[in-house]
Amino acid sequence: MSYILALDQGTTSSRAMLFDRAGAVVAQVSQEFAQIFPQPGWVEHDAREIWSTQLEVAKKCLKMMPNKAADQSIRARTATDSIASTFPISAIGITNQRETTVLWDRKTGQPVANAIVWQDRRTAGRCDELARAGHTGMIQRKTGLVLDAYFSATKLQWLLDNVPGAREKAEKGELAFGTIDSWLVWNLTQGSVHVTDVSNASRTMLFNLHTLQWDDELLGLFNIPRGVLPEVVASSGVVGATNAELLGTAIPIAGIAGDQQAATFGQVCFEPGMAKNTYGTGCFMLMNTGSKPVVSKNKLLTTVGWQLDAKAKVKPQATYCLEGSVFMGGATIQWLRDGLQIIQSAADVQPLAASVPDTGDVYLVPAFAGMGTPHWDPYARGALLGMTRGTTRAHIARAALEAIALQSADVFRAMSLDAGLPLKALRVDGGASKNDLLMQMQADFSGVVVVRPKVLEATALGAAYLAGLAVGFWASCDELAALWKIDKIFEPKISADERKAKLARWYKAVGQAGHWVES
Ligand code: ADP
Repeated sequence: MSYILALDQGTTSSRAMLFDRAGAVVAQVSQEFAQIFPQPGWVEHDAREIWSTQLEVAKKCLKMMPNKAADQSIRARTATDSIASTFPISAIGITNQRETTVLWDRKTGQPVANAIVWQDRRTAGRCDELARAGHTGMIQRKTGLVLDAYFSATKLQWLLDNVPGAREKAEKGELAFGTIDSWLVWNLTQGSVHVTDVSNASRTMLFNLHTLQWDDELLGLFNIPRGVLPEVVASSGVVGATNAELLGTAIPIAGIAGDQQAATFGQVCFEPGMAKNTYGTGCFMLMNTGSKPVVSKNKLLTTVGWQLDAKAKVKPQATYCLEGSVFMGGATIQWLRDGLQIIQSAADVQPLAASVPDTGDVYLVPAFAGMGTPHWDPYARGALLGMTRGTTRAHIARAALEAIALQSADVFRAMSLDAGLPLKALRVDGGASKNDLLMQMQADFSGVVVVRPKVLEATALGAAYLAGLAVGFWASCDELAALWKIDKIFEPKISADERKAKLARWYKAVGQAGHWVES
């Protein structure tokens, strides 16, 4: 028996999972780590803790490997060099929270500051400045991204300008920048490999979607010295091997992709027009648009999905996606639990919400961290509207679930408009997609058939698939597509008129939450 080890470094936890040849999870370990909020709107992680938790869960996961023979081969590793060939882990695939920015010292391997997390809004003012100077169009054309503090470029510029001595060191080539994938590969190879894959690179706002290279004009605009950048590699392909001391033997690192692109791959959305929505902390909908980047007319992002042909020397082909990002998805339910304390665990939300037939016209706009697609309003804030004396926590819980589905419905609408045709089905995954009521709301509000597969850990699965393809663990995308199995299908049950009325109320509520804080 052999397996693929997926490292899934998320926003709130580091996870490791082992997948077998059938694409089933055979072992799984996760560990949360600290969220650091130094000021309102700022979100940081300690990159050293990201690495230590990730290594820890990987080690624990290997200990949980089902077959005893596997354990023996780990123990026997020092006895002979040939163990690597009998080692039960064929390759490692990495997937990660995207955009989060780490800057570290190449010599010491230590970060020069905390990582600035994708949710961090500290550079919103810098983005406004760039917009006023007229750079929005050029940035969108080259990167496919909306000029927003969400992406890495302004975060990296902030670190270079605000960490004492950073810029001078960077100019001398002494610092390395990376998103979390780069940081993990650097540590797994003990500083010998500094790379990022195309999908992660495409979220930095420094990467040209069309040439698949770092872009000098963008580097100039954000004042980023080229010497800090990682080499860009394909999403599927061996980039190096782990240092043998870390996990028992040198294991090939063979797949890298940002979490949402990995989930799209894990949902085997291999054909243009296929789309998935992941319901995790945020909700992220991606649609495969094939081998050409499609410019959105409806405020979606254009992004690289993945690139498989690692060895292609001439203009490597990538698969592109359109993406919509909702910042508060399952995190809205965490807020019911931790902020309002009206539920004890996330799973409680479904029975509570189902105890009332509707929200009683209550709407929650969970713009706690601004709003993403299609509003792109960093100054929006949360709003709870329409309450009366009859409003109970059940109505609020139901409104919270509806808010997740309604925000995703907005993204779905933008995607259908960009695609120029109604999408036939939406594949779903992520922790909150377990919630049947939420999935039914999604089918109702989007007027689309929602399809939930058996394996909901599509993100880790996608990373495993990318790595497994590179080392021949799986032979082809067709083989992967055949592994995908349906758990449950949700059909729309409300009429087009009811849907229209519901969305109209929602848009009215969203209007109330917009532009709330001053820039
Ligand atoms: P991430 O990968 O972003 O950490 P997960 O895919 O693990 O997220 O999903 C966890 C999220 O799903 C949490 O925000 C949690 O509140 C939410 N969640 C978990 N179970 C449910 C449920 N039954 N109903 C609604 N939301 C849920």
